[in-house]
Amino acid sequence: MAAQRRIALVTGANRGIGREVARQLARQGYTVLLTARDLGKAEQAAAALRQAGHDLLAQQLDVADAASVARAHERIARDFGHLDVLINNAAIDYDRDQHVLTADLDRVRRVFETNTLGVWRTTQALLPLLRQGTSARIVNVSSEAGALGSLTGGTPAYSLSKAALNALTQMLAAALDGSGVLVNAVCPGWVRTDMGGTSAPRSVEQGAASVLWAATLPDEGPTGGFFRDGKRLDW
Ligand code: NAP
Repeated sequence: MAAQRRIALVTGANRGIGREVARQLARQGYTVLLTARDLGKAEQAAAALRQAGHDLLAQQLDVADAASVARAHERIARDFGHLDVLINNAAIDYDRDQHVLTADLDRVRRVFETNTLGVWRTTQALLPLLRQGTSARIVNVSSEAGALGSLTGGTPAYSLSKAALNALTQMLAAALDGSGVLVNAVCPGWVRTDMGGTSAPRSVEQGAASVLWAATLPDEGPTGGFFRDGKRLDW
């Protein structure tokens, strides 16, 4: 019997780190669902990255919209019947202009809707397909800004959303322990993207490396951890 095609899905992959992760997974031979909340942007990015032998398919996916997530699930179930790698990369609002003492809580709620609940929603929806995959991996792209030991009053919405994402990672990993699905959080470091800005020291390739490491862990690899450059970080 022919080996099953390896399918990967990346959220927020029309630009930044997600786009680079999609590119590199395709280069490694995965069929990549390059997703974006704007289908046109997903199509544009997929077309730009497509090279001979690279399998990149555009899919609309807004992680804050349950109907959109359900449509992505339907498409993968219909076309492939399984998923091997889920990269929960999409995130918004590094709110440098806010402070915990005065933060706009409606804005905090919006950030959680994408950065934390978006990951949770997408993972819940796609989990049945990941259970059908071989050696499935879930990578939650987090940030050391959410590490409990380094919290200050700054970037409150973003930092809390990532602290909660780290906790979610541990809960998912515990619940899936022994299932073959490995779940880890990674921090890509400070990366030159729209979010990271132009003074960041890392390129998108360097940022994507941590994500790719967790996406391609061997079966005996870790689960329920927080990593950058393949090295453990404190929660
Ligand atoms: P970015 O350049 O701002 O890209 C963010 C991506 O997320 C965009 O494709 C954006 O799509 C998408 N997105 C936002 N809301 C979405 C939603 N509701 N549904 C689907 N996609 C959505 O950010 P980045 O720097 O590449 O960051 C990628 C990840 O790394 C994030 O999780 C971020 O928190 C993390 N991170 C980044 C840094 C850094 O220095 N850059 C540091 C630590 C952690 P649109 O184009 O439609 O807005």
